[in-house]
Amino acid sequence: MARQLIDQFAAQLPEDRRASVYGGSKVGHEKRTKVLFDHFPDADRLRELAGEIKQHVVENLDTYLPKIEASLIAAGVKVHWAATAEAANKAVLDIMRARGATRMVKSKTMVSEETHLADYLQQNGIDCLETDLGEFIVQIDGDHPSHIVKPIIHKNRREIAQSFERHGLGAYDDDPQTITRRARRFLRKKYLEADVALTGGNFLVAESGRLVLVTNEGNSRFCLAATKTHIAMVGIEKILPRDRDLALLLNLLARSATAQQLTVYTEFIKGPRSSTQPDGPEEMHVILVDNGRTDVLESDCREILRCIRCGACLNVCPIYRQASGHAYRSVYPGPVGAVLSPLLAGKKFPELADLPKASSLCGACNEVCPVNIPIPDLLLRLRNKGKEEGAKIASAGTPPMGGWAVLATQPMLWKTAMMGGKILDVLPEKFVPVPAFRAWTDQRTLPGWRGGVFRKWMRTRETKPRQPTVGP
Ligand code: SF4
Repeated sequence: MARQLIDQFAAQLPEDRRASVYGGSKVGHEKRTKVLFDHFPDADRLRELAGEIKQHVVENLDTYLPKIEASLIAAGVKVHWAATAEAANKAVLDIMRARGATRMVKSKTMVSEETHLADYLQQNGIDCLETDLGEFIVQIDGDHPSHIVKPIIHKNRREIAQSFERHGLGAYDDDPQTITRRARRFLRKKYLEADVALTGGNFLVAESGRLVLVTNEGNSRFCLAATKTHIAMVGIEKILPRDRDLALLLNLLARSATAQQLTVYTEFIKGPRSSTQPDGPEEMHVILVDNGRTDVLESDCREILRCIRCGACLNVCPIYRQASGHAYRSVYPGPVGAVLSPLLAGKKFPELADLPKASSLCGACNEVCPVNIPIPDLLLRLRNKGKEEGAKIASAGTPPMGGWAVLATQPMLWKTAMMGGKILDVLPEKFVPVPAFRAWTDQRTLPGWRGGVFRKWMRTRETKPRQPTVGP
């Protein structure tokens, strides 16, 4: 039987890489749980509330989008709308070309990964440099991020030291402080040379037009300090209604993503620099990116648009821990990716229709999600969509169920099979004709066959007179 692509990838993953991903995500999850529940007596109620706020925005995007546009314009921001990835990338390029700019420093943004902005700009003669340490390492290695928050969770420090040596950033030294110091020295010069800074946006507040950025390295602040133009590429679902909503969302985001009370740098940006500010960009552009989001909004999986990209569902997912982020063949890995990537793929949905099956449906992703997204339900809906659309890739690794369906819909056949099951009690396991079954029994002893017990119990239940209900 053909195995699913994600299984094939996991089977070939080198052991040290699996250990890095497993260890990094397990530690991340444990710290997050401790911090969240130590600090909040009813963290689950907060998750529900955050989910309600984000769902409210999702349900009312038609109202909030004009509102955020008006607030941004009032704050002196130029607003651009991009329906597709190509339109978003072109908007960035047009802004740069209009200013004769050729050098960009870029802070980490998932939406720009989605549009493959860095490659696009390089192909068009723009020098585009990632400044988040993890993203910088990924860029010089020609690699891809494998986690939303920790892009190099799959690498160890020896690999990074080798990479720095290869790219002329210093002789081999795998001391983390040395690695960080070398990256910092290299990047500082680039910040000063750049013309344009590109950031994402963790939140955009409709009421005030505030863009909120959270980082732990301060790189977004450096990007903005010396450049004249700031471009923010933001997905249209990143809106929050009011500034006061940030109190809840920022508290949950930092704890869920990196187990911190607050990320080290939390920036609130309202327009370009004012005449009283000594530095900062003279102009600010916000590109509001759709790229399939309105299609998701129309679907029965719209709850996924609540996602605040904290990565907590990746850390807790048993599949992600074993397979790593690259196994998901898309920008968004883990449980969120298994839902979002096939949806954002649009007409290419059948190419990623296997991802919703990359889940044991244990529900842990829902339990940790700071905006309470019912990911297992969405995975089931997408499995159904894959079946309805006849996506072949989705059925790889699924045992044929035709025989089972016949058995389960014919009572006589079912009863006979139940009686036949008793043979298993006496048949030596080596004679069982199903290899997968034998593999299972190699590790466990099967309990004795009890087929039919449930039906007998049901029969007694039906004939027993019901006890009268005692009223209050
Ligand atoms: S789905 Fe929830 S847990 Fe996963 S990244 Fe998004 S917000 Fe975080």
